[in-house]
Amino acid sequence: MAHVVVLGAGLGGLPTAYELRHLLPKSHRITVISDKPQFTFIPSLPLVAFDLTPLKHVQLDLERLLKKRDIDLILGTVTHLDPHHQEIRVGDRALQYDYVVVSTGAALDLDAIPGLGPDNGYTHSVCNPHHAELARDAWQEFERNPGSIVVGAVPGASCLGPAYEFALLAEYVLRKRGLRDRASVTIVTPEPYAGHLGIGGMADSRQLVAQLLQRRGVEVIENAEITQINEKQVILADGRSVTFQYAMLLPPFLGAQFLRDTPGLTDDKGFLPILPTHQHPDFPSIYSIGVTIQLPTPEVTPLPMGAPKTGQMTEAMGMATAHNIAVDLGVIASEKVGSNMEAICMADFGDSGLMFIADPVIPDPVTHQRRRAVALAGLWISWAKAVFEVYFLMKMRLGLAVPWFERLGLRMLGMSSLVRSLQPQPETSGAVTSQKTS
Ligand SMILES: Cc1cc2nc3c(=O)[nH]c(=O)nc-3n(C[C@H](O)[C@H](O)[C@H](O)COP(=O)(O)OP(=O)(O)OC[C@H]3O[C@@H](n4cnc5c(N)ncnc54)[C@H](O)[C@@H]3O)c2cc1C
Repeated sequence: MAHVVVLGAGLGGLPTAYELRHLLPKSHRITVISDKPQFTFIPSLPLVAFDLTPLKHVQLDLERLLKKRDIDLILGTVTHLDPHHQEIRVGDRALQYDYVVVSTGAALDLDAIPGLGPDNGYTHSVCNPHHAELARDAWQEFERNPGSIVVGAVPGASCLGPAYEFALLAEYVLRKRGLRDRASVTIVTPEPYAGHLGIGGMADSRQLVAQLLQRRGVEVIENAEITQINEKQVILADGRSVTFQYAMLLPPFLGAQFLRDTPGLTDDKGFLPILPTHQHPDFPSIYSIGVTIQLPTPEVTPLPMGAPKTGQMTEAMGMATAHNIAVDLGVIASEKVGSNMEAICMADFGDSGLMFIADPVIPDPVTHQRRRAVALAGLWISWAKAVFEVYFLMKMRLGLAVPWFERLGLRMLGMSSLVRSLQPQPETSGAVTSQKTS
């Protein structure tokens, strides 16, 4: 009997635990360790910040979900991982594992810039449920006396999509509530251009984003190196400053503290190197998925930026990992697989939306091409994101990871399957990049 431990119960950890339970006979024990009693659908946190949805609508109680599914749950913060003795500590409790899946998501580097908040600074974030609630309370205050809004990211950030989503949702909410003429919205971004998103853009993302921002009267400062933030201003390295009454700035991400504390496990940001199987190169019993993995940046930008690790990619990593652990345990007689590293991202702007598909997220290092790059705009994307939230929460309630009908749906949309063979493939005639907009 093996003991498989999943660290973190977010977009990566929970579906992976379900898939492991689906694949492994009951004789193998599965334990999930979470520092929060709830699963949170993080992509909906910008909606929480504008009070467009209550936080509890995008959260699920983990104990209820896992109890009936033969998955043990430990609520507590992982403080120590000993890869040599295969031991995990949660407070004063120690657990042995045969395999561990690290899916503890992002720790926020709020010390990156003086004044970066919300805990000890002046800006808001929507990167975790607590921050989204603080952002919502401050937004309600702001609506009573609107003014300048600054939205964006500081150098080193890797998840830029939510900044555009937040800025355009702010613009939409202000318009809807008759406050638009009393407020300005400025995006301050380390990207070389708006729509770069840390991956060199895709299809015509640059033009689409520029058109949308112009249409909505949102200013952009590109290549912005924020060096300091005070109570009223974001200060840039070139001496410019932008005044705000409300600011939401995305911080750089780090791996969890216990990962950074373990010698030889991670890079200097706390991200784990992985083999194509998602195993650590030096510790084959450690798999990692989601935000915790080390991902190369596809191109050097004037200001440091990371590549995004999106929800769809994270789920695919979890499916590959569950399969590979089942192969390790001799439950599946098959080759190990990799994840497809395909990013599908939908951003909801209230009365419009953008969808990006970058397949794969990191272009081929030689040809600089992707198999597919698509950028689409339209109101239907706002609806599709709302439907996807309901669907994702429904499948988490039902204990389904990526059910067959979702895999079929993805294939009908022309997407590849979530996992990929690691066997050498026959030569193809070269990468294909399609560009579509609407
Ligand atoms: C505001 C925002 C909007 C986004 N929107 C989209 C989107 O529209 N589409 C998309 O594809 N992606 C989106 N993303 C990215 C997406 O949320 C991530 O790809 C995804 O959440 C990564 O999953 P994960 O399992 O790595 O981390 P998470 O989902 O963050 O889960 C990590 C879990 O581990 C727990 N944890 C952390 N440390 C410990 C510890 N020491 N011990 C125990 N538990 C711990 C955390 O509390 C958390 O529950 C968005 C991200 C943000 C921040």
